[in-house]
Amino acid sequence: MRSAKHLRFVVLAVFTVMVLVAAVPFWLNRSVNVLLAQTRADLLAQQRLDDVLTSLRDAETAQRGFVITGNEAFLEPYERARRTLPSALHDAKELARTDAERASVWRIARVAELKMAELDETILLRRRAGFDATERVVSSLRGKQYMDELRQLVAAEDARGKARRDALRVDLLARSGRSFTVSLAATACNILVLGTLLLIVMRMLRARRAAAAQLEMQAGQLTEAVALTTRHNRELKLVAELLRAVEAVPSIPDAGPVIARTMPKLLPGVAGTLFLLRDDDPNMLDRHTQWGTPSDQPSAIDIESCWALRHGARYRTAGYDDPACAHYRAPADETAGRLCIPLVTHDELVGMLHVEGLARGPGEDEQERLAVTVAEQLALALGNVRLRETLRRQSVLDPLTGLFNRRHFDAALKRELARARRKDVPVSLVLVDIDHFKRVNDEYGHAVGDAVLRTIAQQLRLGIREGDIACRYGGEEMVLLLPECTAFDAGARAEAIRIALGSIKPNAEGEGPERITASFGVAAYPVHAEDAEALFWAADKALYRAKEQGRDRVATGP
Ligand code: GH3
Ligand code: MG
Ligand code: MG
Repeated sequence: MRSAKHLRFVVLAVFTVMVLVAAVPFWLNRSVNVLLAQTRADLLAQQRLDDVLTSLRDAETAQRGFVITGNEAFLEPYERARRTLPSALHDAKELARTDAERASVWRIARVAELKMAELDETILLRRRAGFDATERVVSSLRGKQYMDELRQLVAAEDARGKARRDALRVDLLARSGRSFTVSLAATACNILVLGTLLLIVMRMLRARRAAAAQLEMQAGQLTEAVALTTRHNRELKLVAELLRAVEAVPSIPDAGPVIARTMPKLLPGVAGTLFLLRDDDPNMLDRHTQWGTPSDQPSAIDIESCWALRHGARYRTAGYDDPACAHYRAPADETAGRLCIPLVTHDELVGMLHVEGLARGPGEDEQERLAVTVAEQLALALGNVRLRETLRRQSVLDPLTGLFNRRHFDAALKRELARARRKDVPVSLVLVDIDHFKRVNDEYGHAVGDAVLRTIAQQLRLGIREGDIACRYGGEEMVLLLPECTAFDAGARAEAIRIALGSIKPNAEGEGPERITASFGVAAYPVHAEDAEALFWAADKALYRAKEQGRDRVATGP
């Protein structure tokens, strides 16, 4: 902006100086031309007066020759003078500029006419009266006086003309000197402002070029940023989708297909394996899911077999030179990188993401960054699923025995009864109450009592089919819910459990009773009761009967 202002000012200055420089020689030439024209006119006027004088001198010589000889041939210059003199005098009068000049020229013309008249007169007299009469007139010296006066007048005019020309020359020289100085100054100014203009223009061009280059660079950066943002947005969307999908699965095994479907979209051309930490062994990870075309990976790995798991930080191998993790069965590809990323959430290890076939070169860091982001999100999602699973398990399980709790039993009983009604199949209940359990507590303490409870719970779990539900109903009472099971079959199953109980050590972990027994009350839908409450009552009544009849037995309701 400031440069543009300067430029306008400098352009105006250049224009002014250039006009000045052009005007000075023009003005100089014009005044010189005027002076030259004056000099030329002066010289011409001088010439005309000299011509008058010469013509009259020649005419006088011709007159003398004719007077002496009487020969007409001598009169030729006189005749010529007679012809030319009027025009010469006329020109001299026209060329006179000042009043003094005009007066002088008029005087010269007058004297010249008188001289011509004197010549005419003497020549005429010679023709008519002969030599002697003429000689007398000539000798009167009148003609000589005219010529002398003419000579003096022309000489004076000559001298005046010369003085005027000298003055003009001096004037011309002075003007030339002045205009030279002005021209020089104007040219110097011109060079100065032109130089300044050039500098400003160059600076502006440079600034404009720099601005254009910067603009181009910014445009490039913007395009890159837009492309990057678009890619990041797409990745974020996919990561968010993955997170949502993984968090929506009911349990960790169900997350496998979701992960295998999304990962190739996030990291195209990259194969992967997801290992998850075992619930019961904090040093072992199981192969959970694979996608792409992964290399051969073990179905389970030890924490010690992976550099990333050992150090708790991601580990990348890009070629033969890098030490490989023990779980790489095939050697690392020369051109493709492998990356192990521990999956950690809330400072707890959840698993490990192993990706292979990562690009090498410009996209390398970007891919690694994305893999790490995905791993972080995956760890979070899997951690949440695991937490949810744990919470759900805790909400339905009895912490001491690991059997379902009473709340779960009540819901399960209602659900199974409804299904049994729909499908017209039986459902059986087996109430289990440990015999003289109070004595165990009294004799060995509560901890042993708990251990005995755990043993019996384990025995109940072993004694039922998949799909049957074993619950701790309260205290040392347990209940088995056996869908699609008749009273007879339920009694047989209870009997088998009862017998099995008799042959085990009640507290495998230490001291305790040698033997433990339990009583079983069996009731079945629809033979003994139609609804949940009645069915439970029937089983309870049967249990009461079993107790009454001497314990360690199975009684079937109602
Ligand atoms: P019975 O043969 O008539 O069933 O005799 P019992 O002693 O088993 O009967 P009772 O119902 O009088 O006693 C149950 C005892 O179970 C009382 C209580 O101390 C014990 N008990 C209940 N819940 C627990 C538990 O969680 N841990 C332990 N160690 N004992 C429990
Ligand atoms: Mg009891
Ligand atoms: Mg009891």
